[in-house]
Amino acid sequence: MAKKELHFETLQVHAGYTPDHTKSRAVPLYQTTAYSFDSAQHGADLFNLDVAGYIYTRLNNPTTAIFEQRMAALEGGIAAVALASGHSAQMVTILNIMKTGDNFVTSPYLYGGTHNQFFVSFKDMGIEARKALSDTAQEMEKLIDENTKALYTENIGNPYFNVPDIEKLAALANKYGIPLIVDNTFGCGGYLSQPIKHGANIVVESATKWIGGHGNSMGGLIIDGGNFNWGNGKFPKYTEPSESYQDTIFWEKFGAVAFTMRCVAENLRDLGPAISPFNSWQLIQGVETLSVRVDKICQTAMALALWLQENPEVVEVNYLGLENHAYHQLAKKYLRNGFGGVLTFRIKGGLQAAKTFAESVELISHLVNVGDVRTIITHPASTTHRQMNAETQVAAGVFPDLLRLSCGLEHIDDLKDDIMQAIAKIK
Ligand SMILES: *Cc1c(COP(=O)(O)O)cnc(C)c1O
Repeated sequence: MAKKELHFETLQVHAGYTPDHTKSRAVPLYQTTAYSFDSAQHGADLFNLDVAGYIYTRLNNPTTAIFEQRMAALEGGIAAVALASGHSAQMVTILNIMKTGDNFVTSPYLYGGTHNQFFVSFKDMGIEARKALSDTAQEMEKLIDENTKALYTENIGNPYFNVPDIEKLAALANKYGIPLIVDNTFGCGGYLSQPIKHGANIVVESATKWIGGHGNSMGGLIIDGGNFNWGNGKFPKYTEPSESYQDTIFWEKFGAVAFTMRCVAENLRDLGPAISPFNSWQLIQGVETLSVRVDKICQTAMALALWLQENPEVVEVNYLGLENHAYHQLAKKYLRNGFGGVLTFRIKGGLQAAKTFAESVELISHLVNVGDVRTIITHPASTTHRQMNAETQVAAGVFPDLLRLSCGLEHIDDLKDDIMQAIAKIK
């Protein structure tokens, strides 16, 4: 077959794996902790990062490596690192760039857990997250100073569904010689959106959500765009000799993959948030049907958004696919294949009505998660965004009467029936 760029649907079932020495057609699960050395010299070479290979599963694993290569292909990056969770992907990314005294500028529209990680835990480590007033390049630039080491944004922010103008943010990051990091969890592993193709340098994402898709396995990913100059003088972790690798200078030795190599060699080794090979294997099962699930989920979300808008008990529906959404135009520019699997709506009757609704659904699951094959309802004000005060909640778009619906694969008529009976319970 002539060499052509393969489509997403093809890559999701093939990238990163051709049958190995066993001829196993499905991706094998290598549930092992360690790997035999050919000789003492081979062991030493592996430890020196002079040859590629496996040492210990805290660093890497053959099943995990297939998952990583597949996701790098789907996101349009040159390499990827899989980790225990989306949050560990964020932590390792930030610590792979910054040290005490450094800061980064972030969009204000963040997942609640990310809010805590950035403004509570990172603060304790002496790394400052600076929250811009909006996700625009203009607002983010105001907070940049000489210690700023990155820009950070979510793509399809949770739960406001903002789609940042990634090309403008990439241009701003480039102007200051710092990387643009994008949380693409809601971009569904690259199927809806590929920030790297628009100039982002690093993608972080939770594989726990649509990538795995079955609500059974935690995982996170760092995708390396391979398009950032870590040798520009602002990043000593790449240009000064490494204490723990015989004075290796990562930028000199690894060039375009320096970021990925350092993530594994220094951060996974020292901080330890390795993904279990079993989880990598489970997540690969999810990836193989990613586009099919996301197509159907987006169709259901669009249809439910239009249907909910007509209901007199619903005050407001917030979905990127609706023309009245503030980010609809940017969504049309940066998204493909659909407008996402999540919508929010506000219900008449305020906080109590929203709580009653969440408690009254029968088929729909009341919990905190997104991206499952089963439809999920969440009341963000009392759960995911609970740690924020009322003012910060409203600024992030989390109103007391707001409910978040993550669409699954059920028949839409069954979902509508469940929603109707839950609305009836409020009255
Ligand atoms: C869930 C989520 C995370 C965190 O991922 P975990 O796998 O739960 O650690 C980060 N960002 C966004 C947008 C998320 O939805």
